[in-house]
Amino acid sequence: MVNLQEFKSFIVKPRKVAVIMHHKPDADALGSSLGLAAYLKKLNHQVSVISPSDYPSFLEWLPGNNDVLVYQNNTAEKVARSISGAELIFCLDFSSLRRIHELGAMVKESKAKKVLIDHHLEPEHFAEFEQWDDTAASTAELVYQLIYDLGHDDLVDATIAECLYAGIMTDTGSFRHNNTNHKVFLIAGKLVAHGANPHKISKLIYDNNTLERLRLTGFVLGQKLQVLPEYKTAYIVLSKEELSTMGSQTGDTEGLVNFGLSIKDIILSVLIYERKDGTVKLSFRSLDDFSVNDLARKHFEGGGHRNAAGGQSHVGLAETLKKLIDILPLYKDQLSKKN
Ligand code: 5GP
Ligand code: MN
Repeated sequence: MVNLQEFKSFIVKPRKVAVIMHHKPDADALGSSLGLAAYLKKLNHQVSVISPSDYPSFLEWLPGNNDVLVYQNNTAEKVARSISGAELIFCLDFSSLRRIHELGAMVKESKAKKVLIDHHLEPEHFAEFEQWDDTAASTAELVYQLIYDLGHDDLVDATIAECLYAGIMTDTGSFRHNNTNHKVFLIAGKLVAHGANPHKISKLIYDNNTLERLRLTGFVLGQKLQVLPEYKTAYIVLSKEELSTMGSQTGDTEGLVNFGLSIKDIILSVLIYERKDGTVKLSFRSLDDFSVNDLARKHFEGGGHRNAAGGQSHVGLAETLKKLIDILPLYKDQLSKKN
């Protein structure tokens, strides 16, 4: 953070703080928010943690989960009050206000000072303070870095460490993606020293499946995974009827897109699924230089990182797939390169 001293002076006094994560938060968004909130509480700030939507049940074990305000009809007023009454608003794991849906306008209008902590490409600069680094593998890492830069490494206890470790573990695909560097291991090591237990956290996140989720995976691998060898592309399309027949819950589709990328020679994998409201969500994964951030940004109202991005579409499932397939020839040169 370039203006760290100014930030430091601002938080000397106990403040009313709102910590907001992106819509449908993953372990990095929720873990970094809860880790940061636990730290800020230690400094005597009054902290609300806000999620714009529900999230998968395999994240509910995270310490502090019970205090998360999930934005829905019966909490809308409380959330609005927390945001409008805040003196400081932290925005975690997103850098475009569109990613928090209705809450974006509330944050924009609020008089609070804003702090962006994020690692996505091409951020909107709406915050007075930015802890932003697109080379960081996770937002959790950046939260740790901020705490460290504030001279508070000693305040990191097992609760904070577990929350942050969960974000690092998942955003690096368990230390396997190409964002896994020396710094990731250094910070993860420090968090383990502070009390995060890798085996426990990995079990809680990855071995917490419902039978329905595993059956959905079986159905997808058996019947829904398609390959377009000429474009080194794999894709999966899931309708809301299929998801509902399989008894799927929020988060059950997470990770499916990675199966496409595990196929030999595939360099682009896409998951396209219909949400309950009929809009279509896309998840993209790629290898090496092929930028799914560009693809999602140009064609699907989205973005993210070079090798992991998301987007949406409003033309239905069949048209969305057609649009994707029609776009692929534009990328033929990149997609037919050697692996
Ligand atoms: P996922 O495919 O797991 O939902 O998301 C992959 C990456 O892209 C994550 O870093 C996520 O935060 C980001 N992402 C997902 N959906 C969107 C979107 O609609 N817009 C933008 N800008 N980023 C997204
Ligand atoms: Mn992240």
